[in-house]
Amino acid sequence: MKVAFPWFGYDTLALQGFLEDMGAEVVLPPSTSRRTMELGVKFAPELICMPFKITLGNFIEALEEGADTLLMAAGARKCRFGYYHYLQERALRVLGKDFTFVPITQYSAYDFIFRLMPGLFGVSSARVMRGVYLLLAKSALTRDFRRLLNRKRAVDFDQAEKLKESAIAMLRNARTLREIKNVRRELGRMFALNGRKPELRVGLVGEIFFTVDQFANQEIERELARLGVEVVFERCLYNHLRHLLKIDFGYLRSRRLARSYLKECPGGEALRTTGEAIWFIRNRVDGLVHVFPFTCMPENIALEALQRLSERAGVPLLSLSFDEHTSSTGLITRLEAFVELLRRRQSAGRISGN
Ligand code: SF4
Repeated sequence: MKVAFPWFGYDTLALQGFLEDMGAEVVLPPSTSRRTMELGVKFAPELICMPFKITLGNFIEALEEGADTLLMAAGARKCRFGYYHYLQERALRVLGKDFTFVPITQYSAYDFIFRLMPGLFGVSSARVMRGVYLLLAKSALTRDFRRLLNRKRAVDFDQAEKLKESAIAMLRNARTLREIKNVRRELGRMFALNGRKPELRVGLVGEIFFTVDQFANQEIERELARLGVEVVFERCLYNHLRHLLKIDFGYLRSRRLARSYLKECPGGEALRTTGEAIWFIRNRVDGLVHVFPFTCMPENIALEALQRLSERAGVPLLSLSFDEHTSSTGLITRLEAFVELLRRRQSAGRISGN
């Protein structure tokens, strides 16, 4: 059995490690590229959201690489995500390939540990539990790596970029708790700031795939760091797993904070987006960047709440919706203008946060 799943930013490494712990042979699709997206766009319904198209492209490329079993997260989330796996399987069948499609229901840890994984890989539930524990530890490591990288890049861009590939190789090879601990220590040393401090800090909020995946958001964290801005974030695999295990206290906080702007949950991650933005403002970020796919209804509703929040708190907001036509030149121009605004506010002594 050759197992594949779509890319999910740096967290792909943690998911790959988990499947290998289950004894699977993982066929990682080639890194997401323009071609991946074009394939997805070609075989997807025209108006479906971008994460669908990109992950469909990943599956097509994985099948080309010889994968025969495709794993896809499945769940309700009161938005189109609930239909992703049905539609993707259908679109892939049109290609005439022979494969097994396995939707991974996200909302029952019990089902995952006692039925789905043992049934799929012939392993014991105890082994799945050990694997999940390691997955949590490794996804916490990838989150910490992303944080360290964002901070270091904002003060010494070239050096951080130079260190990135060796750090990723270390992440990939960390398989045990001891190795994960050693890599965390080593990353702290490699990405030390040596007394320097980023000039500006912005909070990144939005739809999970777009906040996590570097191809989808056109490396927005790197581009902001190039301009001397540290990007802080909450969305990552680690917090998502904690959410599924019902131990994500950050989510409970976000939900509570968001209530003053959104009385009802409009689906997707709108409550989380709004709550995280409030949390970042309380933690004195200089600005907010909101990223989401063009046709995402929940994030378009969150946008309205974010605009009110930004006005009330006096914290600048840059909202960016993406589709397959979004040009990187246009994106960079908007980021530069936003950072210029933040700099002017800073030098005028109007530092945000209250
Ligand atoms: S949150 Fe938005 S982009 Fe993501 S699946 Fe739902 S509708 Fe699509």
